[in-house]
Amino acid sequence: MPLPLAHGLMGATVIALCHRQQDGNRNWCAYALGFLLAVAPDFDCAFRWIPFAPFAGRGWHHDFTHSLGFALLCGWLVAVLLHESREHTRQMLVYAAAMATHPLLDLLFTSSSGVELLWPFRHDRLRLGVEPPVAYVWHHHSLLGKAFDLAQIALVELALYGSLFLLAWWLGQVMRRNVVESRLA
Ligand SMILES: [Zn+2]
Repeated sequence: MPLPLAHGLMGATVIALCHRQQDGNRNWCAYALGFLLAVAPDFDCAFRWIPFAPFAGRGWHHDFTHSLGFALLCGWLVAVLLHESREHTRQMLVYAAAMATHPLLDLLFTSSSGVELLWPFRHDRLRLGVEPPVAYVWHHHSLLGKAFDLAQIALVELALYGSLFLLAWWLGQVMRRNVVESRLA
């Protein structure tokens, strides 16, 4: 199952393809936000520690936070908090898409029973069972050995998903440049 690094890079990749502003500090904020949103669904692992209903007493991993509906809700919330009314709908869709990469990636590669992708309309778990491009296997049993395995997996993810991000970033730059040039022509 992909690590937070892969998820975050996929979120940033969506921003790289869809964000309109030219490079600058605010653009990097958008990348960071896209990264964070794409990591966020896995915070559901912490829900079981909330000591009151309806959270206590059961595992929440791959539940409603791994759905397209929740991604849309969070995209809307981010667009409202950013207060840019002119770009509201577009921003909502871009940030929702960044977050939606998480459940979609899990849908493809998870080895669990699946994700609740269509919440709130359907509550069954979906999975496609595709073989992931990165081998998520532990070769060692000691804590240090597992840390080494984790670092290795993270490096492979960085190479793979980082390349995808750089490609999207370059494509995004080319598309933006073409738009600017066509406006000036
Ligand atoms: Zn997940």
